[in-house]
Amino acid sequence: MSMSKLAPSSYPLISVVVATNNAGKVSEFRELLADLPIEWLRTSDVMDAPLHVIENGDTFEQNAILKARAACAATGYAAVADDSGLEVDALSGRPGVRSARYAHEHANDNENNLALLAALAEVKDADRAARFRCALALVTPFEHDPLLAFGSCEGRISRQPRGRGGFGYDPLFLVKSCDERSMAQLEAFEKNRISHRGQAVNNLRPRLIELIASMVRQLGPPIAG
Ligand code: IMP
Repeated sequence: MSMSKLAPSSYPLISVVVATNNAGKVSEFRELLADLPIEWLRTSDVMDAPLHVIENGDTFEQNAILKARAACAATGYAAVADDSGLEVDALSGRPGVRSARYAHEHANDNENNLALLAALAEVKDADRAARFRCALALVTPFEHDPLLAFGSCEGRISRQPRGRGGFGYDPLFLVKSCDERSMAQLEAFEKNRISHRGQAVNNLRPRLIELIASMVRQLGPPIAG
């Protein structure tokens, strides 16, 4: 592994594995936290086989902790994981933690979007409020308790898909803070700024700075001479 290829602008003080098989999420961490002295690794940088975790938690937080703990145990590195999904008020918060599997166990994005439109067919525009939520967990080999951070993004569900960007429910999600453009109509940098994941990463930032500072303190002063 070439350090110069992965290192951020300053010399990395710690390495953290991003517990996902999604290369896009690793890039998001590298971009949003590029100023911190952290080397962000993909699981494939340090593991031969993909990480498989059964996400059977009842909340985004529980699933994020499950994934981060599994990656930390499998690699010996500090690990960060996210879990996210869509909550629709008219569906009592569903699809929630089942967002990826809403239509059926192996559903693709299109099937999930069609299932969501069908479930909301009789729901009028004013009652289609929804939000994306994200929980992030950072687990280190030294601390028992995970560091947690959360983010959310408010909007409502449209009646037809709009836009071609993003993934998942993006084409159906009209973002409240973006004049109701759909998430799929935003540029990647705009989505990072307002998205549930972008917010959660920003909320994790001060915790990461504390972690780095405490690790530096534990290392003690440099040896003279
Ligand atoms: P995961 O946390 O990456 O496993 O995401 C779970 C599911 O939530 C995805 O498969 C999507 O259906 C949905 N989801 C999470 N984040 C987003 C997003 O930013 N846009 C659209 N859908 C999302």
